[in-house]
Formats: sequence, structure tokens, C-alpha cells
Amino acid sequence: MRPSAQALTATQEDPVDRFEPNLRIPGPTGLPPTVREAGARQMINHRGPEFAAMLSRILSGMQPFFGTTSDIAMITTAGTGGLEAAVVNTLSPADRVLGVSIGSFGDRFAKIARIYGANVTKIEVEWGQAADPAVVRAELQRDNAYRAVLLTHNETSTGVMNPIPELAAAIRELAPNALILVDSVSGLGAVPFEMDAWGVDVVVTGSQKAWMSAPGLAMIAASPRAWAAMETATMPRLYLDLRTHRESHATGQTPWTPAIAVVYQVDEGIRLMQAEGAAAVFARHEACAAAARAGLLALGFELFADQRFASRTVTAALVPDGLDWKAFNTELKRRGLVLAGGQGKLTGKIFRLGHLGSVTLEEILGAMSALEFVSIGMGRPVQPGAAVAAAQVAAVASFGLTRPAVAAAGVGA
Ligand code: PLP
Repeated sequence: MRPSAQALTATQEDPVDRFEPNLRIPGPTGLPPTVREAGARQMINHRGPEFAAMLSRILSGMQPFFGTTSDIAMITTAGTGGLEAAVVNTLSPADRVLGVSIGSFGDRFAKIARIYGANVTKIEVEWGQAADPAVVRAELQRDNAYRAVLLTHNETSTGVMNPIPELAAAIRELAPNALILVDSVSGLGAVPFEMDAWGVDVVVTGSQKAWMSAPGLAMIAASPRAWAAMETATMPRLYLDLRTHRESHATGQTPWTPAIAVVYQVDEGIRLMQAEGAAAVFARHEACAAAARAGLLALGFELFADQRFASRTVTAALVPDGLDWKAFNTELKRRGLVLAGGQGKLTGKIFRLGHLGSVTLEEILGAMSALEFVSIGMGRPVQPGAAVAAAQVAAVASFGLTRPAVAAAGVGA
């Protein structure tokens, strides 16, 4: 159907339609050009040798980012399907589970376990705070008969990153039989993770986050004792049965038809990450996060998260009293900047700026410039250039000006 002349004019006037937006949401990430091209390639036989080679590259390429030598399964599903796989493969109905929730994704993880019949006790942490290892410790001293503990690595809804090594150490010490299941959908690949060294049993990530690809794949690593637990766990599963995936992966395949276009993209995304180097990828995320925090503070916003546990992939700020967020956001979008709002009980209370996966310092500085422009236009007391300058100073301090990291972030090689 042809658009009416009026609709066409409206579309042409919208800068978001004419230029690439600065997509600063915490996933899906924008796609680097070569990743986008990879997704447009012709289909191949997913039971043939090219697919097998690609799957093998992806799984071995991801192992260092998980910090594991254990097997990883790649499933065609959203991140939530990955969380569901973590639960249904390792647990049985009536198993006692401790769900440590610091936000809406922690709630979702606990809800999945409950829906499949686990007996879930929740530790509900105030949103904006991280889980305190001492609180988890106290609960496990009271009762250590849990079969599993559910943790969120990076709580995307609040911009908080949990201290997983400390939490895992407390659990291992006090409840040595409990499996530790971690949602790192929006953390893994962007920040260091050492699954084996930290004693974590299952870790879940998703293609649309640090891996710079479209949504559609979840990658799940399991420790030897988690793989062993799958043999006796009785929650129902077929599509998500990780044992079936592992068997199939051993022959270079997936049990069901995979999202091949997304597989192409993840293959290319990992190639880019390897070319940059894991340390430089992590440094870039850290610098972009530091820049985002400093810039938002210079704009007069209050950051939502306890800054000791600030996420390195997403920053949340409070919507100030008196700011018409809808009008503000509409103007930002007209300038090509796309931010995320709050989720659940934080809807209308916070906004979030994503800096994960495909993100450069220039994009953060561009976001600050748009925020300054719109702030000034709406009468907020902001000096032109102040947020951009603050962000840049913070990024330089964070980088320590190591040459590869600076080049990777695009601030001049
Ligand atoms: N867990 C976390 C921490 C997330 O950030 C997300 C998505 O943003 C999910 C789980 C769910 O992933 P999906 O939306 O792909 O199901």
C-alpha cells in the first residue's frame, strides 16, 4: 500500500527516519556494519559443514568470555528462554530455591522457578542497591538446604551490577550443595566474568547485548556439576533440554532449526571482539560507562544506582521533579537519541542510557550533546558543552590512555 502524501511528508520530516539513530538502550544493541551484512547472507544447510565450523567458532570463542572450559549450549530463544533453560534443566518441582532479586529481571528469574513448581524463597533487595553478601550469608546460616540460588549479574532495570564473586563465595561456603545460576544476559562479554574460578554453575547470556547481534540466541554455560544435575532434574523440558543441545553440538549441529541469520551475526560479533581484544572491549565499556555517569551528573541528573555497584553496560538516572519526561524524550528522539524508560515500578521515574555491545565514546559524547541541547531548550540550567566535557574527562581518566583501548573507543589512534 502506498503511503499518503501527508504520511510521506511526516516521515520525511522525522530525523530519526533519515539518519541512523544513536540507539542508547540496554539492548538490543546497534549492529556494527559487518554484523549487519552478515545477517543478510544467504541461508546455508544447518546440517552441513559450514554451519558446524561456525558453531564451533562461536562456542570456543565464547568460552573465555564466560571464563569456563565447560560446554556451552546455543539455543534459538530470547534471553528469558535461556533463564528458563537454566531452571528447568537443573531443578525438580518442590526443590527449594533462593531467589536473590535486585530488580525486575531478578523477579522474572524467581517467577520462572516458581511457575515450574520450585519452592522459592526470595531475598528482595531495594531497587538501586546490589545484593549484600552478608545478607545472603545470614539467610544461608539460618537455612542452607537450598538446591539452587538465583543471581542476576547485571540488573538492567536498575543499572546495578552485583558482586558475583563475593556472592558466589558466600554460597559455596555455606550451602556447598546449592547450584548457583546466574543471569548475565546484559553483562557477559562486556565485563570480565570468571565462571569456573568463581564457582558459578550456570550462566546465561543473549545475542542482542554484548555480542553486538540481533535478538534471537541465548548462550548457556553449565559447570560439570550442573551438567550432572541435569541427569536427575525432573522439571519438564523438550525444546530447552540442554543435554539434547549438547549432544547435537558435538556433531556440529543444533537439535532444532536455529536462527541462522543471527548465528552469522554472533560469529561476526565475536570475530570483532577478538580482533579488538577482550581487555580492550572491557576497557571500552568501562570508559563509556564512566563517561555516561559523569555526563548525566553534569546535566544535573541524579543517578539511580548505588554508585559503588554502578553497571558498566547501562546507567539509570532519576527523572527530576517538574521535568516533562514525555516531551523531553520526544525532543531527544527528534535529535536521533533513543533512550530507554523505566520498567515495572520504575516506569516514569527513571530513564536508562545503554552502553553495551556496539558502543563508542563518540556515541556517548553525541548522546550528551543531544541531552544538553534539549535540556537547554527546555529551560534546564545547563551550560553548553558541560556534559560533553565532563564525559570526555571521565573517559580519559578511565582509559588511562592505553593505546588500543583508546583506538577501540574511537577517540583517535
Ligand atoms: N535478564 C536481563 C538482565 C536482561 O537485561 C534481559 C533483557 O533485557 C533479560 C533477562 C531477558 O532477555 P529477553 O528480553 O531477550 O528475553
